[in-house]
Amino acid sequence: MIRPLAAVSTAAIAGWAAPALLRGRALRTAICPRLAGMGRPDHLALTFDDGPDPDATPAVLEVLDRLGVTATFFMLGAQVARHPQVAAAVVAAGHEAAVHGFTHRNHLARGPIDVCRDVTHAASVVAAATGTRPTWFRPPYGVMTAASLVATRRAGLRPVLWTAWGRDWEDRSPVQVAATVRGQLAPGGTVLLHDSDCTTQVAGSWRATVVALPLLAELADQLGCQLGPLRDHVDSSGR
Ligand SMILES: [Zn+2]
Repeated sequence: MIRPLAAVSTAAIAGWAAPALLRGRALRTAICPRLAGMGRPDHLALTFDDGPDPDATPAVLEVLDRLGVTATFFMLGAQVARHPQVAAAVVAAGHEAAVHGFTHRNHLARGPIDVCRDVTHAASVVAAATGTRPTWFRPPYGVMTAASLVATRRAGLRPVLWTAWGRDWEDRSPVQVAATVRGQLAPGGTVLLHDSDCTTQVAGSWRATVVALPLLAELADQLGCQLGPLRDHVDSSGR
């Protein structure tokens, strides 16, 4: 039976519409700037998803070390379980460990209890491997549902998405990755890149990311911003 539109509650519409709205980068930056990753106007947050990876993550760490830049790494619990020493190396190098879930599955396709278990498990795996208590959570594909928000809160984490990405999971050159970020980025924004190809169709996609990093450091200079982790991105008022 097809219900008339009037019978569909506002809450139900909001529940379905919210994830779609939040997937729109420009719109969520306007209506939920903190969730989108807007912070201090003299700072850009640099973030990596889907690691740790035994090839990609050390390559990223090496370039960041050369640039004198620290970043936030949204780790997958399953990857941390496979490569705990790589996760530990990220934090030992001065970077921030964050949570991207245990498995890389869209929360819209999972039940709320399953989502809660996944986020809590991932947070404990990341904490055990790195010896730090993570602060931030970003859901797979950036799909933030009501269940994601409840799970984030129950795990003692703060949700954050991004304001600019490099689409570096695709078959792209470093210049294309940097140009895509440049086209979206404004002072105070959060950049999303990947230190793994474990969820992409393009093996070695992270190689373009590694080469693009110095270009992004130049972009930060041009914007008059310091590039760094999310822990340095918010001011004392919580922004
Ligand atoms: Zn991801």
